[in-house]
Amino acid sequence: MAGHTVVRTQPHDIPDGAGGERSAREHPDHSIGRDPAGRDALDDVVDETRPCVAVWRGHGRHDAEKTASHTAAMTVRDDLDRFIASERDRFTAELRELCAIPCEASDKRALDAAARWCRERLRAAGFADARELRADSAPALVVGETGAGKRTLIGVQHYDVQPAVPLELWKSPPYDPAMRDGAMYARGVDDNKGHLLLRIQAVEAHRAVYGELPIRVRFLIEGEEESGSPNLASLLAREPDLTGGDGALKEGGAIDSQGRPLLSLGGKGILYCHFRVRTMSRDAHSGGATHYPNAAMRLAHAFASLMDPRGRVLIEGFYDDVREPTAAEAEMLERMPFDSQATRDVVGIERFAFGRGDDDAKRASVFEPTCNVCGIESGYNGPGSKTVIPCEATGKIDFRLVPDQDPDYIAELLRAHLDRSGFGDVDFSAEEGEHPYRGPADAPLVRAVAAVAEEAFGKPVVLIPSSGGTSPMWVVCNARRMANVTLGMGHPGAGAHAPNEHILMENYWRAMRATAGLYTRFASQQ
Ligand SMILES: [Zn+2]
Repeated sequence: MAGHTVVRTQPHDIPDGAGGERSAREHPDHSIGRDPAGRDALDDVVDETRPCVAVWRGHGRHDAEKTASHTAAMTVRDDLDRFIASERDRFTAELRELCAIPCEASDKRALDAAARWCRERLRAAGFADARELRADSAPALVVGETGAGKRTLIGVQHYDVQPAVPLELWKSPPYDPAMRDGAMYARGVDDNKGHLLLRIQAVEAHRAVYGELPIRVRFLIEGEEESGSPNLASLLAREPDLTGGDGALKEGGAIDSQGRPLLSLGGKGILYCHFRVRTMSRDAHSGGATHYPNAAMRLAHAFASLMDPRGRVLIEGFYDDVREPTAAEAEMLERMPFDSQATRDVVGIERFAFGRGDDDAKRASVFEPTCNVCGIESGYNGPGSKTVIPCEATGKIDFRLVPDQDPDYIAELLRAHLDRSGFGDVDFSAEEGEHPYRGPADAPLVRAVAAVAEEAFGKPVVLIPSSGGTSPMWVVCNARRMANVTLGMGHPGAGAHAPNEHILMENYWRAMRATAGLYTRFASQQ
């Protein structure tokens, strides 16, 4: 018996995938993305002198920040801090209100309520034309624009959230936002309601402190992002002006375990397929397994035909459109930190899949497409035994795609592969398709975001050519090859899509400060 102790994963150990680390709440000594001095979250923004990036870089030490105080430029920054501090109760109450709306894909009324809430919040912030666009009865796309200037920044955001289940793993109800130890807990507070709201509140902050926006800011806030944005492209096609701009602020955004802002310049695409195979009209006694076809085995074989043991997808033509990283992207990868040990530890593995070494795993996380079985169901899996030959099996696979793979074309290649390999009886439907998008790094928007993020967070930024997740940026950015970037506040233990999702309010105010600064900076950034 000894040596076979099963160590069960605690609920809070659920990996969030972003940084591969545990919740800072549960592991205070990890102090992820937290100011090591542990100062009070709210007062921090108000009273502390802001780190000056030049000084920070020069000394690279925390105490250097504190000496970089009374320069002339500080006055304006302090005004911004003071405004944010004076409004923080109202801003926090608004965040609670938005997070209390349970807008999961299955709750049509809640989605409508959230769309209305966003529309009204935009109007209150001076987006006079804020309105809802709809395709049939699908959740609305809320759009609105404000400001004036040569440049236009498009905020691509969403108000829908992932399901909160399993509810028993939440320490407080997911739609009753709770504040604990400087953090707000609620489904969607990180992904993406907090990010969405702080970008609107930053418009107010900008107007109050700096005056009118020197750029146009347009929001596209959808309610189907977590379902693969099925109507976004057609809604935007109706009004092509909505995608006219000079750069896009992606949803979300994060800082890493050392508090460095992570600027993601792209995302993988996705093709999500539902499989089904039926081999007989009904289940049969397993004594007949000598001559009755087993659906579970059939599906297992079909899935096995898709990938070799090294992780290479075997669908003919699958890699044909994969774009080679540019020299600049390769260099970004080189500079990108990758905590391989922490990434393994969070899921309790000693080696990465497919025999990948640390460097290969890091490169693949940015530049490689995937074929991932999300689930298989067939036959009997209840208590005890049942000797049965299942007549039907179902399964789901997601392919994360990289530029310039096209989800529709990959679905065609998949069908051809199954037919050619003798699996003509294995059906699948492509339920979600989204193009990958990797925007330019050499762009004014990226430089502007890097500058304001470094100023607000006091750490150098990390540029990531592409994150592993998917956002609908291709639809918005591809025609003009527009730059897109994240500027956010999620910390590695934020738990997006997982129980006990939360944000650190300290980071919320910092990100708001950065975003308000961006609205000025982007106007003149070369
Ligand atoms: Zn999201």
